[in-house]
Amino acid sequence: MNDQAIRVDNLCKRYGPVVAVDRINFQVAPGELVGFLGPNGAGKSTSMRVLTTFLPATSGVASVCGFDVMNDSMKVRECIGYLPESVPLYPEMRVEEYLVYRAKLKQVDRSIRKARVENCLEKCRVKEVRRRLLGTLSKGYRQRVGLADALIADPKVLILDEPTSGLDPIQIRQTLETIKELAGTHTVLLSTHILSEVEAICDRVIIINRGTIRWDGKLSKLGEQVPLLVMEVRGPAEQIPLWLEGQPGVKKVVTKPMEDGLLSVEIEQERGQDLRESLGKKVIEKGWSIRRLDLRRRNLEGLYTDVVLNRET
Ligand code: ATP
Repeated sequence: MNDQAIRVDNLCKRYGPVVAVDRINFQVAPGELVGFLGPNGAGKSTSMRVLTTFLPATSGVASVCGFDVMNDSMKVRECIGYLPESVPLYPEMRVEEYLVYRAKLKQVDRSIRKARVENCLEKCRVKEVRRRLLGTLSKGYRQRVGLADALIADPKVLILDEPTSGLDPIQIRQTLETIKELAGTHTVLLSTHILSEVEAICDRVIIINRGTIRWDGKLSKLGEQVPLLVMEVRGPAEQIPLWLEGQPGVKKVVTKPMEDGLLSVEIEQERGQDLRESLGKKVIEKGWSIRRLDLRRRNLEGLYTDVVLNRET
């Protein structure tokens, strides 16, 4: 029984010789709000376009609300609202007219159509431009009309490819609030390059790089990790890491020379340890000096950088 809102099994997508998505697997439960992250060209839009039935997969299986994207594509389209990376709009149509047209196309019942259009105009803050020609809208407004279109049939699953791209800071905050409100009653898969947006609204992130999934987990897991001890020390560069590695409570030491003769040091500590005071004291006793000594908690930016640069996480 498939009770997942989104299910992806061994999905591959090639464009000729380019492997854009390479045997990825993930599931999204109903009501989850998941951030889908990765650098340019990682395979995010491709995965989203396969899930939304706009592209056929090369191999593997994907389903939305239990419907297979290949065999039941019309059913899948009924379940999803999709905001593509660049929103295709008819320039000669007016905003409200376009949403009414899209509502008809998506078979929103006539009796509730007007109310749905009104609701989406309001929710996506495009009421004030309802009579404007789409071709004359700024990028931010086009993006918001695209979001209104994705919501028009009140779909169970929303697939949003960079929904805040092109928006000003206030619009970004409002759009994120709208997306957060939708979660719980809707399942949302959201791609963005803005990590703070993900930290603000998502419970879980999936990081994809070069077509493969590199990390999939709850953001709350990051807070449970032991913080790193970071130091900047002046002393003999060859001796310092060896000496630090021999100290009790130290698991791993990574050093990097800095421009001004100092050594930047990152120390992985044993769980439950805070070596700042004891280690700081011993370093001074060795006759070396310290310019910086503090703890660094793991955040999404640190995780993302490690994952994308292929460092151990
Ligand atoms: P971005 O953050 O830049 O939007 P992305 O993670 O969405 O990137 P994709 O657009 O899915 O990445 O691209 C994945 C890979 O597939 C890239 O190497 C890209 O160049 C390639 N690609 C995408 N579309 C096509 C296409 N139509 N033909 C050939 N290669 C393509």
